[in-house]
Amino acid sequence: MKKHSWLVNIEDYAPLIGEEAVERIMRKAQRLRGLRVVHISSTFYGGGVAEMLSSATLLARSLGIRADWRLIQGSPDFFSVTKKIHNALQGAKINLTDLKKEIYETINLQNAMRMDLEADIVVVHDPQPLPLIIHERRTSPWVWRCHVDLSDPNPQIWNYLREFVDQYDAVVLSLPEYARELKPPQVFIMPAIDPFSIKNAEMSKAEIADRLEHYGIPNNLPIVAQVSRFDRWKDPQGVIDAVGLAREHADCRLVLLGNIATDDPEGQEVFESLLRYKCEQIQILTVEDSALVNAIQRHAAVILQKSIREGFGLTATEAMWKGAAVIAGHCGGLKHQIKDGVNGFLVSSPEEAADRIVRLLQDDKLRKEMGAKAQTTVRQHFLLTRKIEQYLDLFSAFESNFTVNQQRLTALRVTARSDSAAVPR
Ligand code: UDP
Repeated sequence: MKKHSWLVNIEDYAPLIGEEAVERIMRKAQRLRGLRVVHISSTFYGGGVAEMLSSATLLARSLGIRADWRLIQGSPDFFSVTKKIHNALQGAKINLTDLKKEIYETINLQNAMRMDLEADIVVVHDPQPLPLIIHERRTSPWVWRCHVDLSDPNPQIWNYLREFVDQYDAVVLSLPEYARELKPPQVFIMPAIDPFSIKNAEMSKAEIADRLEHYGIPNNLPIVAQVSRFDRWKDPQGVIDAVGLAREHADCRLVLLGNIATDDPEGQEVFESLLRYKCEQIQILTVEDSALVNAIQRHAAVILQKSIREGFGLTATEAMWKGAAVIAGHCGGLKHQIKDGVNGFLVSSPEEAADRIVRLLQDDKLRKEMGAKAQTTVRQHFLLTRKIEQYLDLFSAFESNFTVNQQRLTALRVTARSDSAAVPR
């Protein structure tokens, strides 16, 4: 039977990261055994945060950390406001009215009243539950983990959110370039994937063919695919334009597989706006099937992640892990995973993307070489164990009065930096 994440423990990672790393992580976890950590986010599925929490909390449990994961509940108008906040954090305009603030804060107050947050450490993910902190009588450190690209936030939204952020004991961001002027110390931990999940585990050729056939995806042409939430920041229009241009030189079929997160009310509209392009050569699917994601990332000749903004971009990591040749937007976390022309390509326009698609479709050797390097990059830097270890370091850096031990924090910062600089040159 294949190893899947619900049965996985840290020792299963030994063939991937080495015995020494496994033992080091176990030693660090041993010192924190029994620690109660509660993660709070806003959706159980759809998007990278849910994907990671699902695996990370289980691996943490297997290490003796009592990791728990709760959701905040919100009405559609709450999620409409929080999506606008998310967009504004990535630089979009927002009309931040008193009504929007009231919806945002009231729903958080209601959630705070309902939640019983007895824990040794609370980790709040992204802006949706951010204000919870003002309603809690705190008995333990609170960490805000922001997954969004914070390099150029809309000033109006940032000034508003900052009052909440400043009340936390530490802030975790994906990249050093997202650091802001803040009271709490900031640390940088890049996301990572679970190599044993259904989405990432090995698949046989027959299993891949079965998934593609099940969804009626023909295999008579090479596939260029983007697997992503239906979100404008992921530039699905740019993907359609790029593949249209590429097809003038190399025949291929585009597969756009996307989902709509429960906390993203704009997804449906983006999905519907794309349907007019649907045809034999442009397959647009929205199904929740991790094995299909896996099959497409393994089967496609080229994987695109043509984002305009991308906090990190787990879809690229997932595809790279499978040895895919990935073409990604030159932005955010994608730049930290891909070294242009080495383990993938980084592009800034549909024309550039089209050019790289054609190059890859016409050159099997280049595709294989880039894919092999991409896989090595992920094995060395973007597996869940690296992320868990950084969190263990952060948790052990807290002292009894909730302050972070600066010396330990500096060590953590150094780890994060060397990781982010680790893409092969
Ligand atoms: N995903 C999925 N099905 C889809 C589209 C996306 O399961 O149809 C998953 C994808 O495999 C990845 C996550 O959603 O695990 C997206 O994470 P990413 O960091 O790329 O982007 P986010 O959605 O968090 O902005």
